[in-house]
Amino acid sequence: MQKRISLLGATGSIGIQTLDIIREHPEHFQLVAFSVGKNIEVTRKIIKEFPVQLVSVIAEEDARQLQKEFSHVEFVYGGGGLVQVAAHTNADVLVNAVLGSVGLNPTLEAIKKGITIAIANKETLVTAGHLVMQAAKEYNVPILPVDSEHSALFQAMNGEKNTEINKLIITASGGSFRDRTRDELKNVTVKDALNHPNWSMGSKITIDSATMMNKGLEVIEARVLFDISYDDIEVLLHRESIIHSMVEFQDTSVIAQLGTPDMRVPIQYALSYPDRLSRPQAKRLNLAEIGKLHFEEMDYKRYYALKLAIDAGRAAGTMTTVLNAANEAAVALFLQEKIGFLTIDELIERAMDAHVNISSPDLETILHVDAETRKTVQNMIK
Ligand code: NDP
Ligand code: MG
Repeated sequence: MQKRISLLGATGSIGIQTLDIIREHPEHFQLVAFSVGKNIEVTRKIIKEFPVQLVSVIAEEDARQLQKEFSHVEFVYGGGGLVQVAAHTNADVLVNAVLGSVGLNPTLEAIKKGITIAIANKETLVTAGHLVMQAAKEYNVPILPVDSEHSALFQAMNGEKNTEINKLIITASGGSFRDRTRDELKNVTVKDALNHPNWSMGSKITIDSATMMNKGLEVIEARVLFDISYDDIEVLLHRESIIHSMVEFQDTSVIAQLGTPDMRVPIQYALSYPDRLSRPQAKRLNLAEIGKLHFEEMDYKRYYALKLAIDAGRAAGTMTTVLNAANEAAVALFLQEKIGFLTIDELIERAMDAHVNISSPDLETILHVDAETRKTVQNMIK
């Protein structure tokens, strides 16, 4: 059966690779709706290639212009547009590959329509994982991981009971600056930080990898998706990014998932699940060629952002919302060259210190705290 797909963030790194998978398997997947931000040139190309019904852009102006050019497609815009694409009534699966906590509302609305969620957008799970998982349970909707580590964990678990799991071992490449000390990070540039050794990704997540906040967000994401306590989640430095993560079971068996670093593998698995499809053109893993794999204990002083994230995760409530919003705001400031690299961690820590935690927050509270935190961070640098 062909699955109908709606895609948030079609012009991004994950979005483009999702289109590759849809293109490779036209008999299995059909794109019915997608959203973009501001990249209208690429939007035109996608519309010409895929027979979609609905497209969302950020700006009303862009929607008007595109409507003149493509009369057979419906164009929507803004936050409401994202929700319309996500909850498109014809879709079987939503691939949420938008950047940031703007993905929260659309995810919740898609769940209410019974649409399966393939989630790359980790900020949504960090800011309000409890709301997403509650809704998924209520509407009996699967939440399938796209993030490579979580796809690895999901595959290694293979439906085994949580009670049989001893711990999750999430691997981390170390990012762009893994061979530098913390002192050596003071004056690094945006260009240096964007140069990731193993993965080609969007700029925000590449900075998150350099600070190790990405791994922090992923620990929280794992806690949310798999309901495993923080005490049973370990982060292991593994520079080659060949083992994408592992599960240790009660009987001491460890099951890992391996592969070349290529996001199209976990994207395709989330789309084809519970089946596996072939990837004839993809590079296969050649361990003899790689020869050695390396592992090192995580250093929480060197990678301070990871410690902040785990602290926020343990505090729960609105603290993970603050962590995520402060990080989004601080990374944007770094990318605009308004703050230095180490100031990212500093602003996040100050935002967390200033916040009075609220337990079991509802959606309104989360959206409010998210917006307030972004303002707080802006004010800190004035
Ligand atoms: P990109 O920056 O490459 O792409 C982001 C996409 O979201 C683009 O289509 C962009 O539109 C759109 N977008 C950005 N801001 C908004 C907004 N405010 N409203 C509507 N649309 C918006 O990001 P990535 O693809 O790298 O990452 C996407 C998500 O997937 C993130 O949550 C990331 O953490 C996660 N992820 C990414 C991985 C990767 O390999 N890249 C790996 C694992 C997870 P436009 O460009 O048109 O403006
Ligand atoms: Mg990842």
